[in-house]
Amino acid sequence: MLDQTIETMGEVRLKDVGQVYKRGNQHEIILRKCSFDVTPGKLTVLLGPSGCGKSTLIKLIAGYENPTLGAITIDGKLVQGPGSDRTVVFQETALFPWMTLHENIMFGPVEQGANKREVSEKATKLLAKVGLKGFENKYPDQVSGGMQRRAEVARAFINNPKVMILDEPFRGLDHMSRGLMQEYYSALFEETRMTTLFVTSEVDEAIFLADRIIVLSYKPTNVKAIIDVPLPRPRQFHMLTSETYGNLKEHILGLLYEEALKGFAAGAVGTVEMEQIVEAVRR
Ligand code: ADP
Ligand code: MG
Repeated sequence: MLDQTIETMGEVRLKDVGQVYKRGNQHEIILRKCSFDVTPGKLTVLLGPSGCGKSTLIKLIAGYENPTLGAITIDGKLVQGPGSDRTVVFQETALFPWMTLHENIMFGPVEQGANKREVSEKATKLLAKVGLKGFENKYPDQVSGGMQRRAEVARAFINNPKVMILDEPFRGLDHMSRGLMQEYYSALFEETRMTTLFVTSEVDEAIFLADRIIVLSYKPTNVKAIIDVPLPRPRQFHMLTSETYGNLKEHILGLLYEEALKGFAAGAVGTVEMEQIVEAVRR
């Protein structure tokens, strides 16, 4: 057996994942037969319109909820709850307001008993990497929203998880801050090559960051297309005007447009009885 020597690096596999939510007496199919892989060492982006079920997928992969149908594995092991192999960064800030940025970054590893001096050095380095040198001793409310997001990313990276999961982490930032965030973030990814699942509803953000884009359909959501991004790394902003970029963007916008039309034509998503739903999801 080779399994002692094979390095497991956070390969996430979704196989026919279905999720049904109940509202009162009615049920709604959110996800239907969703299958895709998150490849070790690559940055996979989940792209889909608002409300299609991206955060639902993240909750399932994070292990906060169990899927109605199908299975999720990480390095072959079934996900059955949260685990330290995954770190999730959400859109909302989770920095402790009573701690400085540096203390916030140190918190996780120190809680887990890591050497304080080593963690402190690492935190200082990480803060510099996200452009926060000189802001280490500021409190979250003393810095801009963009800076808080960067501190959040540094805090996630210090955990060095097998799988890094980010759910629309830069949403709500102004255009310029968002562009800067993407640049800092992609540099950090390129340095660490941490297996990553990044959620966004923005086509530009998806193409700029991704090795591979999973385009989601309209609800009940499944995978509409899987697109490899052939842009070289390191990613740089001039690539946004390249022909490859333009063609990719046109293609992806076309796919999303088709889905938007379906949503529009359908009006509200219909609801049916549980048995029928489970039947539909299985089909
Ligand atoms: P996205 O992240 O793509 O914007 P979400 O995954 O947050 O979408 O939501 C997808 C759909 O699932 C929405 O219609 C939302 O209202 C519904 N939903 C999410 N969580 C629950 C829940 N716990 N109970 C019922 N409905 C939910
Ligand atoms: Mg969401």
